[in-house]
Amino acid sequence: MKDFEIIAGPCSVESEKQIIEIALAVKEAGATFLRGSAFKLRTCPDSFQGLGPDGIKFLIKAKEESGLPVISEISDVRLIDLYQDVDVLQVGERSMQNTDLLKELSKVDKPILLKRGRACTIEELLYSAQYLTDGGNKNVILCERGIRTFETATRNTMDISAIGALHALCNFKVFADPSHGTGRRDLVESMALAAVAAGADGIMLEVHNNPDKAYSDAMQAITPETLKSIVKKALKIRKAIFED
Ligand code: PEP
Ligand code: MN
Repeated sequence: MKDFEIIAGPCSVESEKQIIEIALAVKEAGATFLRGSAFKLRTCPDSFQGLGPDGIKFLIKAKEESGLPVISEISDVRLIDLYQDVDVLQVGERSMQNTDLLKELSKVDKPILLKRGRACTIEELLYSAQYLTDGGNKNVILCERGIRTFETATRNTMDISAIGALHALCNFKVFADPSHGTGRRDLVESMALAAVAAGADGIMLEVHNNPDKAYSDAMQAITPETLKSIVKKALKIRKAIFED
């Protein structure tokens, strides 16, 4: 892991062509990691559930084509063998308190990106991280991705203060995901930059080559061009605030 990571890619892997095209585009825009989920946990059973094993296969193909390391969500430890070539395992917000999953992942020799549950406190997030470290996996990255509040103008309320609050309480890297944090593509850039200014060690952004047609989370998907603009500004902010 570098000092500052930019994870970008689609919410879901939709096809081999889609993920390879996006991988090359986000790399060109300055991303350092490719994201893409193959097993989706959806609220509505009629929604796209992901490509399953093929999705992981296509993600690995995109990794090979682009040279970018990859991250993908795991929610069922019985499928761990599929993730052999996945560089970082993501525990989604719905699974943050799945302690059986955390205990199993504590034995895996890969970094785990642990997303904060939408209704979980910072203390609860740290307890979940402890399940991973207690079992032997010290390579934990925390990720703020918005919490559910009374506000309805945004999908979630991006808790920028969580970044500093977590840094004050632990030594884990803290990433921010303004895509799920806002649910609105027009707000992704400002919240990404706010997170960088607040000291985030990485940002995760949902990027699609045809945002309106994304199979999941279309409303928050940004284009590779917008990503490029965010990367440029994020690096400027980091330089201005954190580098001598
Ligand atoms: C995701 O990053 O793909 C995702 C589903 O995020 P979250 O678990 O934060 O909703
Ligand atoms: Mn998503």
